[in-house]
Amino acid sequence: MEIPSVMSSSRAYLDYNATAPLRPEARAAMLAALDLTGNASSVHTEGRRARAVIEAGRAEVAALAGARVSDVVFTSGATEAANWVMTRPWRRIVVSAIEHPCVLEAARRSCADVDVLAVKPDGAADVDELARLLAGYGNGDGEILVAVQHANNETGIVQPVADVVAIARDYGARVLIDAVQTAGRIALNFDARGADFMLLSSHKIGGPKGVGALVVSEDARLPAMIVGGGQEKGRRAGTENVEAIVGFGAAAAAARRDLDRAGEIETLRDALEAGLARVTPDVRIIGQGVSRLANTCLAGLAGGKAETIVIALDLNGVAASAGAACSSGTTKRSAVLDAMGVDDDVAQGMVRFSLGWASREEDVAACVSAWQRVNKVRGRERQVA
Ligand code: PLP
Repeated sequence: MEIPSVMSSSRAYLDYNATAPLRPEARAAMLAALDLTGNASSVHTEGRRARAVIEAGRAEVAALAGARVSDVVFTSGATEAANWVMTRPWRRIVVSAIEHPCVLEAARRSCADVDVLAVKPDGAADVDELARLLAGYGNGDGEILVAVQHANNETGIVQPVADVVAIARDYGARVLIDAVQTAGRIALNFDARGADFMLLSSHKIGGPKGVGALVVSEDARLPAMIVGGGQEKGRRAGTENVEAIVGFGAAAAAARRDLDRAGEIETLRDALEAGLARVTPDVRIIGQGVSRLANTCLAGLAGGKAETIVIALDLNGVAASAGAACSSGTTKRSAVLDAMGVDDDVAQGMVRFSLGWASREEDVAACVSAWQRVNKVRGRERQVA
């Protein structure tokens, strides 16, 4: 089967929050790993070679997360990692209203008592409400879970996770931080933060899809995700996906090295936002003026239809997304913008542009031109109406 490549220089790919393009380092490492014959559980030379590259990958992922190597467990992705955390019979789970569906849905399925923590109009989880909620439950004795993202996938707004951890600690609650969108964009420090669980996903940092990790503190009392041959120290059985882990590790090393490129990416994102505002002065950009990921721009015009705009942009060579593309191919009302109290008329037209390691000035210029063409059509439609 021939696999078409969409990463051509004639297209502008601005959808890194959905999936980043594969980094060359990850591709090279995976190609080399394909020829490793051994099973990592075997004691012979081939087996030990496979084990060695898995452990090297784990060390790179741990370094990216600021975690102990022994706390990193490979999974099929962040969705699996979130579902795994929810397998513990939590007495109560508090999730912020803007969590990714893999956290929200897994929480709802596993626990009868789920509190949805409000976010404020500026897009940050309401930590005062968290304190009130937890105070009402008394000491959690480690049986209450609080799940908050480090940064939101749609808006890029960074969440007050340090405050969340401090409050949860005061009330004996455990904390899950979804760091899928911050890994490689903000320096992570799982150990110093004092959280109990952290979610990571390889394909958001330029690694392959279908692999991720749960960072889990030693005393978290989490039952095994899958039982069987005892791999991953008995925490997730099954022969390891060596190629994917190796690619994840290589991407993690590159993403950590690229942390100091955040300023460059922010300059590109700001140029994009300035360009959109030049073309359509009434454009609304969510999260300007608050702490936000340097790569994310959620922009739209009142009365617009995000789905139509995304298709029109695509026809003009630009890949962007309407709200959270990773939840499905469909466009629903954005729960995130709803939770922030953004008017429906504005929320419906919001398009997410997200940049990353391979973004270029040409992508920004192409996107602004496409935005101009798309909005010329919109102007004509308005005249006809
Ligand atoms: N959490 C966030 C914030 C995400 O953006 C995504 C994206 O899909 C996920 C979790 C799920 O990650 P994965 O694709 O590895 O299951």
